[in-house]
Amino acid sequence: MPALRTVTFTQPGPRGWVLLYAPTLYEAGFKQRHVDGEALALHAHLQAAGHHSVLLDAYYRAQHTLRLEDILTEQGPFDAVIVHLWTSDAYGPRLRTIADELADARSGHGVPVIGFGPLAVSAAAELRGHGALDHAIGLAHTRTPAPADPVIAALAVDAAAHLTGHTPLTALSRADVPYLPDAVVSVSASRGCRSRCTFCAYNADLGGGWSELPMTAAIADIAHLHRLTGATRFAFADSDFGGTRAACQYRALTLLDQLQQRRLAGRLRLSINVRSETLTPATVAILAEAGVDVMLIGVESFNPTTLHRLYGKKQDLDHLRAVVAAADAADITTVASYILWHPWQTLDSLRLELAAIDTFGRHRIPQFMARSCLLVIPGTVAEAQIRAADLLNAAPFHRSFRFAEPDAAELYEALSAWFIGNAAPVLAGLSENRPYDLTTLAELKIAEWRWLTTTLGLPVPVVEAAGTVS
Ligand code: SF4
Repeated sequence: MPALRTVTFTQPGPRGWVLLYAPTLYEAGFKQRHVDGEALALHAHLQAAGHHSVLLDAYYRAQHTLRLEDILTEQGPFDAVIVHLWTSDAYGPRLRTIADELADARSGHGVPVIGFGPLAVSAAAELRGHGALDHAIGLAHTRTPAPADPVIAALAVDAAAHLTGHTPLTALSRADVPYLPDAVVSVSASRGCRSRCTFCAYNADLGGGWSELPMTAAIADIAHLHRLTGATRFAFADSDFGGTRAACQYRALTLLDQLQQRRLAGRLRLSINVRSETLTPATVAILAEAGVDVMLIGVESFNPTTLHRLYGKKQDLDHLRAVVAAADAADITTVASYILWHPWQTLDSLRLELAAIDTFGRHRIPQFMARSCLLVIPGTVAEAQIRAADLLNAAPFHRSFRFAEPDAAELYEALSAWFIGNAAPVLAGLSENRPYDLTTLAELKIAEWRWLTTTLGLPVPVVEAAGTVS
């Protein structure tokens, strides 16, 4: 498997004065303490390349940050703004709001905007059409012309180089990471994914495949950030922590060994995104010993036909259940993503899937069922499939699908009305900083589950009121 190394700079070009912007990517106020670690790493990378980088992390909302407009006015002029857009969850109204902000920056301050991250690549055409973007950076291809300005070109080349290897974070100072000890900091220990899920846009900026970054260096980064901030909660931001079953076990052992050598094992709480195929019960136990207490797994469907034919996932559901049982035994919380609503959903399949979810554990799925819906992202295979079936609604910053089956459409509309009337007004006021809000969140999910199962004529299940992570 390819192993990516630390990036070095041998041919310095013209250096730039750059504002690196990590915008708030979620509409809801629940996530407050999460730090955009990839923006932090790019910040370190650009500094190491000799650029003057100013990081504006508005993704972290536990402290007041200046607005983009304020920094451009007070600390400008900058040669460029690099905006980090990564999660597909932001595609839609949130991305349009960010696009408005970027368009104002371009027109009001004459500053070029460079998009970085998979969402920037996926939505490059729409961002450009909105006047919000000059260039998008990716390894596979860029959907924008190469920058003519030599300073901007050097910035783009150096930012792209970050995707080809690991940038040590150990040169960062306390001024670079002004986060509180309860921050949740993400770090990267690999890039890409071996799977080809038809709906996935998380690797749009990469060339394909999976490459590991040196785990030893990732732990050195974590130790450094822990020393600077006091943070004890770290999230591996990898699309797939494991890569292969053999690599995953080796990486878990290295993780444990490195944390033990630094006397950090048991003192840090770690989460990973991982494919269940790369895990074994033995590897799960090693991860737990290292301090992993949350695993995020893309389950997506318990209908094998939907899973394989529609989503392109080769997941073995029996193996998934064995891995989840091992995680339960090791006190690791399994958080599963699930896509209940898709254009070809039927009432029969819904009943099958809800019964399977109930057996699996509804509490393991953080989304509301009304939000457990296929996100259609530009450029994905799923978008092309839905367009070919004439079920796609497409407009700038908007993709959605129509249901092929009227009964499914009617039920989805009724569930959405329930969500808008009952959950959405409460959700707007919740925050992860108030412990009881997690209980309120769980109670809302239980109420929604009862509504949906009762409406479908399923037995009313006993739902565990466990807190969930979203
Ligand atoms: S496993 Fe996850 S990251 Fe990999 S292609 Fe599927 S959705 Fe994307």
